[in-house]
Amino acid sequence: MCSPPETSATTDPIPWGHSAAAHRVHGWCAICDGRGYAKEALAWRVRENRRHDAAQAAVAASETRRNPWTCKPPPTTCAPSAARKP
Ligand SMILES: [Zn+2]
Repeated sequence: MCSPPETSATTDPIPWGHSAAAHRVHGWCAICDGRGYAKEALAWRVRENRRHDAAQAAVAASETRRNPWTCKPPPTTCAPSAARKP
């Protein structure tokens, strides 16, 4: 069996039958000693929540950097066509 490091991401060979994706990202998988499917699921959730938060922060940061004059939506009010004179 493998003895997974506590830090994430390893370049060590992945033991046969273990999850390559989990080893690549977390450095361990559910069937490594001392782990389990619940711990692996939790690790994926934490990772994806962090990625989501980082993506949202990047979007918010880019929104604040935009030039407000070029990003304004088109005006929603306009003169009614009946008011026009031929
Ligand atoms: Zn493993």
